[in-house]
Amino acid sequence: LMHLTRKLIEIRTMLLSIDQSDALKLPSIVVVGSQSSGKSSVLEAIVGHEFLPKGNNMVTRRPIELTLIHTPAENGKTPVEYGEFPGLGLGKMTNFADIQRTLTDLNLAVPSADAVSNDPIDLRIHSPNVPDLTLIDLPGYVQISSLDQPETLKEKIATLCDRYIREPNIILAVCAADVDLANSPALRASRKVDPLGLRTIGVITKMDLVPAEQGASILAGNRYPLHLGYVGVVAKSSGKKGKKDSTVVSTQRSENDYFGSHKDVFGSSSSLMVGTDTLRRRLMEVLESSMASSLHGITNAVQLELEEATYQFKVQYNDRRITAESYVAESMDALKLRFKEFTHQFRRPVIRAKLKGMLDDKVMDVLEQLYWLDKRAPELGTLGADPKLKPKDVEPYWRHKLEAASSLLTKSGVGRDSTLLVADGLRSLIDSIAAGEPFTFHPRASERLIQFSHMILRDRIGVTSDQVENCIKPYKYEIEVEPREWELGRERAIELFEKEVAMCETKLKEIRKKVGGGRRLGGLIGYVKTLEEKEKEKKTKQFENPDANEEPEQNPESYRYPPAQIMDARHAMLYGDRLSILKLRLLALKSKRCRAGPESDVLCPEAFLNVVADKLAYTSAMFINIELLDQFFYQFPREIDSRLLYDLDRREIVEFARENPVVRRHLDLQERKDKLEEVMKQLNSLSTLRADPQPAPRRH
Ligand code: GDP
Repeated sequence: LMHLTRKLIEIRTMLLSIDQSDALKLPSIVVVGSQSSGKSSVLEAIVGHEFLPKGNNMVTRRPIELTLIHTPAENGKTPVEYGEFPGLGLGKMTNFADIQRTLTDLNLAVPSADAVSNDPIDLRIHSPNVPDLTLIDLPGYVQISSLDQPETLKEKIATLCDRYIREPNIILAVCAADVDLANSPALRASRKVDPLGLRTIGVITKMDLVPAEQGASILAGNRYPLHLGYVGVVAKSSGKKGKKDSTVVSTQRSENDYFGSHKDVFGSSSSLMVGTDTLRRRLMEVLESSMASSLHGITNAVQLELEEATYQFKVQYNDRRITAESYVAESMDALKLRFKEFTHQFRRPVIRAKLKGMLDDKVMDVLEQLYWLDKRAPELGTLGADPKLKPKDVEPYWRHKLEAASSLLTKSGVGRDSTLLVADGLRSLIDSIAAGEPFTFHPRASERLIQFSHMILRDRIGVTSDQVENCIKPYKYEIEVEPREWELGRERAIELFEKEVAMCETKLKEIRKKVGGGRRLGGLIGYVKTLEEKEKEKKTKQFENPDANEEPEQNPESYRYPPAQIMDARHAMLYGDRLSILKLRLLALKSKRCRAGPESDVLCPEAFLNVVADKLAYTSAMFINIELLDQFFYQFPREIDSRLLYDLDRREIVEFARENPVVRRHLDLQERKDKLEEVMKQLNSLSTLRADPQPAPRRH
């Protein structure tokens, strides 16, 4: 039968890991009693070591699930005694003072505002001197609330104990002999759930504190009968505090002394149960028979749960098994694939077109700055209209302008700007991947992904922009334009201008609509112009006569239009001006003179700059491709492996997989089914064990 208890204790532990509901519970012994009833002393006597937290203040704040595992001597060698906390990963503890300290720390970690916690501490003790038992130590019932304990404490502890003393557990009700049993909260609580005392064992401590006859009459249990009876113990060490285990040994001695000196009352002729050894044996018997009688019920319950889990697994997942590892690997592959799908956005022609777009804007800025705002701009048109005029005769003024324009463009920081443009594109691609499924479930992985890809980019940006800048350097000195390039540049400039014209016209139309029609806009513009005239006059006057007192402006007209509309009018004027110059330049670009070829560069700066922009875009794209894109595409998938995948240990892999709720549910059900199968297998092996006529050897 010993095998049975041991096996069932293992099974009980597995069942606890499957679920915490009462349906799948095997019995354990629950130790209840009021504070100072001697609960800790009894438990330590059973284990044979001092290991429970001590202190005046209530120190047991969390239930302790204490599993005792008997380790038999092998080949005459006594195995080492040790304890372990499976949940904490602290390893084997051979020093029971360490166990005591750990338990104290765990208890004190419960905030004192909460006072007690329902979360049990799992402690296993392996020893040749303990029987196979599971005991649950609960916080002691509080009799009188003290000042530094919350009001609700009493209630909280009672509720916690009520949860544990439910079926099928065995209740070990600890009462001190020198306190009237009528006042024992442990017995009172147990009677509520087990009125006949069928699963309650009474332990009477401090037998040495009452006359032997009085103690004996308590144990007889006439006043509060318990089916499983009472066991009397003396669990106090008479020895002084000192060497570690001497206390437990001397406890045993003082108990033996006490009952030995009262043989007349407690001797073998009486049917009374006394002593820690008796208690231990009694507990084993009771747990064994309780476990044995639970066996049938639990087997059925597990069978039912298993059938349900198997059915669900079939229906929901078609029996498809997954592992956390496979999920992680698949996610990484999907990530790489996803990234690859987008890389066509970074092929060279695409990049070149993007860079060209950026440079076109620069060209427009340069034109605006150097030509359109130039009062002499219309000259360009007249120069071009004169067929006798040779380009080499064109005024040095315009020659100089063209050189300035070209160098504004080539020295505008193309290396840096073009590199950043592409890097930003990559960055936002990564960001969008990191923000999508399945990374919505994995915020930390998503963050890491963003981090390391930005880091690769940061590393490359400097090198790349320097390289690009270096390679466009020749253009800063001389630009040769082939006739074919010229023609293309001219056509593209026309295209660009036509687009710009269309844009300006739309803007004007919008403004017209906004202010209420062309007539009104005309009125507005006229008004703004007179305002500007007046402003100019005032300035000249001030200039001529700076000492004159400024007269307060009495101009009711300035209230004729709301300021927003005046702004609109100013915008409209700007667009209008730009439109007229664009149209003029379009005519020039389409003229014979421009079509003539590169020698007309001074007269057609737009075509020329367009060619320059194209050359810059071509060269930039080439080197960005080599220095940035190729490098990034090479490194990125490798970094995924090294920073997202191989960086994870087993625990982190499971954690990662479980962040995805779909995967978590799948894994949960799969694990539940596996565990139930394992439990079922163990339970089935037990029934053959029980059928075994050979009695198992007694080991304790
Ligand atoms: P707990 O609060 O219920 O865990 O009680 P303890 O085990 O800490 O015991 C409370 C006090 O009673 C301690 O001072 C123990 O030394 C003392 N004590 C426990 N058992 C006995 C006993 O059998 N006889 C005597 N005389 N004192 C005991």
